Amino acid sequence: MKTFNKPKEMQAYRKTITKSVGFVPTMGALHEGHISLIKQSVEENETTIVSIFVNPTQFLEGEDLESYPSKIEADLKICELAGVDAVFLPTAKTMYESDELRITAPKIKGFILEGAKRPGHFDGVLQVVLKLFNITSPTKAYFGKKDAQQLFMIENMVKHLFLPIMIVPCEIVREGDGLALSSRNVYLSAKEREIALFLSKSLKYATKQIIEGERDTAKIKAMMEEVLSATELEYVEIVDREFNLLKEVEIGDSILLVAARVGTTRLIDNMWV
Ligand code: AMP
Repeated sequence: MKTFNKPKEMQAYRKTITKSVGFVPTMGALHEGHISLIKQSVEENETTIVSIFVNPTQFLEGEDLESYPSKIEADLKICELAGVDAVFLPTAKTMYESDELRITAPKIKGFILEGAKRPGHFDGVLQVVLKLFNITSPTKAYFGKKDAQQLFMIENMVKHLFLPIMIVPCEIVREGDGLALSSRNVYLSAKEREIALFLSKSLKYATKQIIEGERDTAKIKAMMEEVLSATELEYVEIVDREFNLLKEVEIGDSILLVAARVGTTRLIDNMWV
């Protein structure tokens, strides 16, 4: 397995590959969620490139950029065992100029939900993902449904900018008890982890109500809020696959979304129904 730190070196390696390239962008501290994306890429492509980069431009002032979990040695081992061909580990210095053009997320869909709670976050995500796409020129790029709005933003960027890349959405990987895997779960104490479970519990409960016939999103959201009362809730929302807010659940076209703080840890989760 090769590793590259400099964008130019990564690009030079990419140019030597003539067959399909699968690309999995990550911020490291890899877990089974990341591994499922990597495995799918290894299965579907001749070559798989993983990037590990904690991108500063997607973090807001006061967020956990400085303390974001890092375990590069273990990450490289995981990649090697999973059959990754190359890992790209750039630094902020090699990725950014001090004064450069900025990508701006769409003014409406990029500034609701996660975009409202973290204004500018998606600008940073799209900026770095476009750079990473240009460096790795993937045939297919793999993203988790766990970050549903991010996935939607990236699918839109590919569409709006006519990028010749296929975006592959990947299912959310959960612990046995339902907690969605996240690099940030390491911040949780045992007691906080119990409370964090209410995110997936609220989604499961809502799904059950929907299966039993409830369609009114106001009622479903109220039920979810009750389940989530032990958390510091940021939002509960139900949208269609284009991220339009819904008054009525449409089976096959809806996403239930939740964001909440547990202690100092911010968690998100969702369920596609
Ligand atoms: P991150 O390192 O958190 O930026 O995540 C890198 C990629 O892994 C993103 O596309 C995430 O959506 C995806 N991902 C993170 N957690 C999970 C999970 N539990 N299941 C599936 N994909 C995930």
